Amino acid sequence: MCTNSLYFPLKVELDYSYSLGDLKPYFDALQEGRALASECPECREVKFPPRLQCDRDRNMAGWKELTGLGTVKRITTGRNETLAQIAMDGANNLCLVRLDGKDLVVGDRVRLERIDATDIEHPAQCAVFRHID
Ligand SMILES: [Zn+2]
Repeated sequence: MCTNSLYFPLKVELDYSYSLGDLKPYFDALQEGRALASECPECREVKFPPRLQCDRDRNMAGWKELTGLGTVKRITTGRNETLAQIAMDGANNLCLVRLDGKDLVVGDRVRLERIDATDIEHPAQCAVFRHID
C-alpha cells in the first residue's frame, strides 16, 4: 500500500489470556454483585476498585467488603454506555463505572448489582451500578 499520509489503517487482533492474579477475590465478588475493596492495615485507606498495595505507604492491603452503595459524582454518556465516577460508601476514592440507565444525574444514589449477560468480555463487566429507587 502506498500512501501520502503519515498514517495508514492497520487492524491488530490479539488472543490473550488475562490473569486475574491476586485481584481474583475482587472479580469473584463482582460476579456475585458484591463490592470488595482494599484496606491498608496501617493508614486505613480504603480503595474501590482495590489496590494490592497502599498508594500512600506501600503496605500490602487487605480486603474490606463494602455495602455496594454509592453516590454519582460525575457522568459522561457515550454512544453505547454511560460512565460515571462514583463515591462508594466507605471508600476514600472515586471509581469509574458503567451505569445502567441514562436517566441518572449527579447526586443520585446507586447500588452495585450483578448482571446476567452472555456477551461479557472482561470480568469487570459482570456488574453495573443502578439507581436506588
Ligand atoms: Zn496505607
